[in-house]
Amino acid sequence: QRPVPSDIVISRSCVPKPIDCLASEIGLLSYEVELYGKTKAKVQLETIDRLRAQADGKYVVVTGITPTPLGEGKSTTTIGLVQALGAHLNRNVFACVRQPSQGPTFGIKGGAAGGGYSQVIPMEEFNLHLTGDIHAITAANNLVAAAIDARMFHEATQSDKALFNRLVPLSGGQRKFSPVQINRLKKLGIEKTDPSTLTEEEITRFNVVLFLDTNDRFLRKITVGQSPTEKGHTRTAQFDITVASEIMAVLALTSSMEDMRQRLAKMVVATSRSGVPITTEDLGVCGALTVLMKDAIKPNLMQTLEGNPVFVHAGPFANIAHGNSSILADKIALKLVGPDGFVVTEAGFGADIGMEKFFNIKCRYSGLRPHVVVLVATVRALKMHGGGPTVTAGMPLPKEYTEENLELVEKGCSNLRKQVENAKHFGVPVVVAVNAFKTDSEAELQLICKLAKEAGAFDAVPCTHWADGGAGAVELGKAVQKAAEAPSKFSFLYDIELPVVDKIRIIAQKIYGADDIELLPDAQHKVDLYTKQGFGNLPICMAKTHLSLSHDAEKKGVPTGFVLPIRDIRASVGAGFLYPLVGTMPTIPGLPTRPCFYDIDLDPLTGEVIGLF
Ligand code: ADP
Repeated sequence: QRPVPSDIVISRSCVPKPIDCLASEIGLLSYEVELYGKTKAKVQLETIDRLRAQADGKYVVVTGITPTPLGEGKSTTTIGLVQALGAHLNRNVFACVRQPSQGPTFGIKGGAAGGGYSQVIPMEEFNLHLTGDIHAITAANNLVAAAIDARMFHEATQSDKALFNRLVPLSGGQRKFSPVQINRLKKLGIEKTDPSTLTEEEITRFNVVLFLDTNDRFLRKITVGQSPTEKGHTRTAQFDITVASEIMAVLALTSSMEDMRQRLAKMVVATSRSGVPITTEDLGVCGALTVLMKDAIKPNLMQTLEGNPVFVHAGPFANIAHGNSSILADKIALKLVGPDGFVVTEAGFGADIGMEKFFNIKCRYSGLRPHVVVLVATVRALKMHGGGPTVTAGMPLPKEYTEENLELVEKGCSNLRKQVENAKHFGVPVVVAVNAFKTDSEAELQLICKLAKEAGAFDAVPCTHWADGGAGAVELGKAVQKAAEAPSKFSFLYDIELPVVDKIRIIAQKIYGADDIELLPDAQHKVDLYTKQGFGNLPICMAKTHLSLSHDAEKKGVPTGFVLPIRDIRASVGAGFLYPLVGTMPTIPGLPTRPCFYDIDLDPLTGEVIGLF
């Protein structure tokens, strides 16, 4: 086997096509394309209207078994499959992937452009600022926080009262409430005309969250308003990472500019003490948010190493959000490839999380129905599920993982079988892609394929696209083509109108294999509150570890006999889902002892970025 150079060396060895040439090759008209330099462009949403009469292509979602902390190659397989279908099997193709956060790029995991000979290029553009969408989301989020802060500062002598005053439209400093404000107060269950008589009980509390796209753990809890100019409005606040924000999830789930404005307006920033949700519309800020997001809503066009088109658009966290790239990118791509073409998109984490949310949240909002699920499996992850030693990022793999061990693979295939069943719950054919590493034996790869087919997969094939590019995924491409023609009968896992608790229980029992769920007091309170507020009919976005089918990351294979604890439930009303918290979820990661940024630099002679992976 020849050695495979580093991702950035491979990426740089290929000269990308000028992006305007690629755009015209795939049928975009020049006025629909906004160039951002030579390798990136934004595509206007009007393209969907122009192609309205065109039938959609085949829709493929790439997911995976429960991974090791290293990742099992979903992004790499998404790109490898598109390269195979496009450059080797002559189909119109598109990959639709998430934009990576700079948190992991400079932190522990590195970039997310795929890897080896299956990558989006130029990978440094992909992994860093791209066209600034994440920065726009950061700005929009922080404008919401600033709007809350300003209303608190300017409109009260006492901070709690300021919080309350923020609920009603700006009153130009008048002390009496206007008729509109009084109506708003009545809606809140408060019959008052003079703000100075408000009591503590009537005050709304706001959770002011600021955002940035850097892993800085010290911002998890901070104190703000310490300058004497803030006149004693000192209080605690927190930062979250931008990709964990609701605005990022809004971008991923929206279907048009008008829909985005409505979703931004529906974001709930607080609940009054009488239980009424307070929104960004109440803050008067949603028009400005839409303005900040007007370019971010357009998908970004890039390309694979083999010259196939890729949309890079939105990158919501896969735990407290749904972990899928944008609906708009998929819709434009499905029109552009036409009825014989393929659009391949990726769902974050394992099939129990990203795929379940892809179907139950993303497909519910988009109305799109996938033709094939590609489930990525690796020998190393299956050995881990079979009882192999712990796999730790940044540490060499123990010998169980580098020498043939059919027994561990066979035992670990329990996880593969369960994830195949999970995909089949939705009635879509499943093709298992065994992503081969250089230490895997032929016998191990073949064993996985055999067991996958026995578990009900439509087909299962080993592939070597990381080492060989699209040529290494031709068999996978052929299997996907066949599966796309197979009969399928898509259905959601749960009816949206079921009570919140029933929906959570269905996911826990059918997908995770839990005996039951247990609602802790905060979660029970939120079920009651959201049901009363009219949000009970939103889909569910479980925030659970991706390292186990259960809530305990240490439990590998197919854990049984457990009750899933639901600690709390939060609402992303604008994005359109409720997210139950199974355990604690960090919403801004920290940096490890040796972060990736140690290796990143600019070569002073060539001006090239070095050290990214
Ligand atoms: P995921 O999307 O599932 O998190 P990625 O596709 O990002 O996984 O892959 C994780 C890492 O593993 C990347 O650095 C990628 O280059 C590497 N990788 C993926 N497949 C292989 C392979 N077959 N051999 C060696 N390295 C691989």
